[in-house]
Amino acid sequence: MPKGPIENIVFDLGNTLVYFDFCYFYDRVALHEKNLNARKFKNFVLNNKYDLKITRGTITIKDLFRILKRKFKLKIGYSDFLFFYSDIFWVNTSMKTFVEKIARIKRFKIFLLSNTDSAHINFIDRNFPFVRLLRKRVLSYKVKLNKPQKKIFQLIIHKYRLDPSKTLLIDDMKDNVVASESLGIKAIHYKNHKAFLKQFSRLNKTAD
Ligand SMILES: [Mg+2]
Repeated sequence: MPKGPIENIVFDLGNTLVYFDFCYFYDRVALHEKNLNARKFKNFVLNNKYDLKITRGTITIKDLFRILKRKFKLKIGYSDFLFFYSDIFWVNTSMKTFVEKIARIKRFKIFLLSNTDSAHINFIDRNFPFVRLLRKRVLSYKVKLNKPQKKIFQLIIHKYRLDPSKTLLIDDMKDNVVASESLGIKAIHYKNHKAFLKQFSRLNKTAD
């Protein structure tokens, strides 16, 4: 692992700062539509990779609404659809506490690097205000790249002029950890908070 003190902390969003489950979306739409099978609905979205296309910015949430409305003859309106699509998150309270603490420490600069879309990030900023502490961001749908593509890690490094060896990524996806480490970025694979805190303090100690 590259040496040097940590100056920059790059946070992942989903299943790191906030947990999520897309089933809330599929189930709630199905609940409001008489003849919709939640499983078929879900499979259609996943088989066509619409979830990925949205975070890559190749389609918008409004496009997805139109596609699904046509395919499944949905009766719900766009605003309900948008709310069901967005209301799938709950806070990781331990991470909330950690971010609030880290944000007060001057020697750290904090960043958000997320595979997300405009509906989700707006919902999260509104409902989980601690995420707004991370004002420096690279969001997949805006840059049309997704983690674990190396280009998105290179992009955040260049955009904010970060020294990779002084930069730490915290992310629940192993692929993202591997990709960032291949570029000389330090990374912690976020699995549970206790293990994370241990790894973080060890990294911080060896760096000092
Ligand atoms: Mg994640």
